[in-house]
Amino acid sequence: MLSRIIISALMLIALSISSVSGALGFSLYMVAYLVVGYDILIKAFKGIIRGQVMDECFLMATATVGAIVLALYERSGDYTEAVAVMLFYQTGELFQSYAVGKSRKNITELMDIRPDYANLEEDGSIRRVDPDEVEVGSIIVVQPGEKVPIDGVVVSGQSSLNTSALTGESLPRSVAPDDEIISGSINMTGLLKIRTTKEFGESTVSKILELMENASSRKSKSEDFISKFARVYTPAVCISALALAILPPLVSIIVGASASWGIWLYRALTFLVISCPCALVISIPLSFFAGIGGASNAGILIKGSNYLETLSKTKIVVFDKTGTLTKGVFEVNGIHHARIEDEKIIEYAALAESASSHPIAKSLLNAHSKQLDRSRVEDVKEISGCGITAKVDGHEVACGNEKLMRLISVEPIPCHSVGTIIHVAIDKEYVGHIVISDVEKAHSKQAVKELKRAGIEKTVMLTGDRTAVADTVAKTLGIDEVYSELLPSDKVSKVEELLKAKSPSEALAFVGDGINDAPVLGRADIGIAMGAMGSDAAIEAADVVLMDDDPLKIAKAIKISKKCLRIVYQNIVFAIGVKFICLVLGAVGLANMWLAIFADVGVMIIAVLNAIRALFVKKL
Ligand code: ADP
Ligand code: MG
Repeated sequence: MLSRIIISALMLIALSISSVSGALGFSLYMVAYLVVGYDILIKAFKGIIRGQVMDECFLMATATVGAIVLALYERSGDYTEAVAVMLFYQTGELFQSYAVGKSRKNITELMDIRPDYANLEEDGSIRRVDPDEVEVGSIIVVQPGEKVPIDGVVVSGQSSLNTSALTGESLPRSVAPDDEIISGSINMTGLLKIRTTKEFGESTVSKILELMENASSRKSKSEDFISKFARVYTPAVCISALALAILPPLVSIIVGASASWGIWLYRALTFLVISCPCALVISIPLSFFAGIGGASNAGILIKGSNYLETLSKTKIVVFDKTGTLTKGVFEVNGIHHARIEDEKIIEYAALAESASSHPIAKSLLNAHSKQLDRSRVEDVKEISGCGITAKVDGHEVACGNEKLMRLISVEPIPCHSVGTIIHVAIDKEYVGHIVISDVEKAHSKQAVKELKRAGIEKTVMLTGDRTAVADTVAKTLGIDEVYSELLPSDKVSKVEELLKAKSPSEALAFVGDGINDAPVLGRADIGIAMGAMGSDAAIEAADVVLMDDDPLKIAKAIKISKKCLRIVYQNIVFAIGVKFICLVLGAVGLANMWLAIFADVGVMIIAVLNAIRALFVKKL
């Protein structure tokens, strides 16, 4: 393409200096014209055959062929303009495909976390294999500088990991034997041997890649707007051009003056050149793509440009408590009203909880430091928002909140200490309760403040926990409204209430870890999930995933979305504005084709450069 442009440009310069005229001049000009523009003519012709006449190629072909015909008709012999317009147009296209291709590539590179291979250790030797081939429980070796291909647990070695591609967190994380390690992070210092705990397809890195790949298929309203706009706009422009070519001369004939067909035809052709909507068509999807890329670089996965758009309208943020605003790592503070030994209570509770992924379950398992024999447990039932029932050593064990006790008709003994209370009953006999407590995440308070600064009007916390605990947490964090002792279904109805109460132009975001709240994530205008601790269901159900569970990222995501949308609107207004001014100037004869094509290419370059700004989100 570049060589075609250069050849044609040189020919054009030579021709304008050397003043060849007549048939020879015409043929030489035509050669220069065809060298640079033959593909446009072919495309336009194909378009006409297919009945799709209203595209850019059609506009360019009509305008330039029209200019040549006009020059022939007026015997001016000046074909420079037609060739030059085609030249500029093609130069613009070339630049654009380069810039767009380059920025897409850069953005994709930023998100490049795909591991190419795994070093599988088998019978003492190491083999380089496709990560897909590695079975769960295999031993893989990750050398310094390599990406961790599959999720697993460290068996030997010590190192620090760079997780910035996943979480946006720039501080390295140090790992030692028995630490869990997620794929996609980069091993920085030491050699690690890892026992894989998942298949490649189930590993973090594959999940993220899947999300990213689907992101571009979800279009935002602004992108839809542009395609609809183009559908109305191009025909409107063509009709106006036709009117411009015919009406004024006709009017002059009617009033008896001489008709100046040439001038008006020229203006109509200029009008066509100006009207190309390429800057918009290109820059808007590119802005969204850059915004999503920038966010992912900061550890925020946004599943589509439609979500980016909704996010920018968020006015209400609703939080889940456990695991979202608090760490979800409970400590045992005491055991009250125990009818059996304290250790026994903890042991039975831990056994009953041993299969649950709820943060409370994990904490109770930690509290009982001894090895547990899982075969003692059967018939586990997890009752969302209430607790667990299971058979341990043949005894019916129930452990959970007051609701659970009522459900199995056991009268719980109320507790007056502040904290989450886990009541335990064995064979329908109340045996005591465990008082546990959780702490807020380090950034939770600041996160709520940042949200207010990012323009959020209301923050709400929903929790299944006790009112006393919920109120204390909400107060320390500065949350506006709290609703406690909710079942998962109550959370859905609360969110529905809030959705009804707000105006339709505002959006409501729900932030949760997905344990018991995946339905709410789906119900909110925008669901934000904690990716590191959250369940797979949450990551599926959510529209935005925070890779490092840091609540501060919520405000950051909103700021990124606002910046991106601001850029989109700037581009729309700028491109349409310049077009409009040029169209008016062209119609009244103040703009010629040269100016028109300059304006077009210029607007496009500026719009593309502006779009790329959406990628830079570090300081937001
Ligand atoms: P949150 O809204 O804070 O995320 P959940 O809806 O997950 O809390 O749970 C609400 C309450 O239900 C907990 O505070 C706890 O009392 C009880 N509960 C839920 N799951 C369990 C469990 N696995 N073991 C014991 N108690 C549980
Ligand atoms: Mg929860």
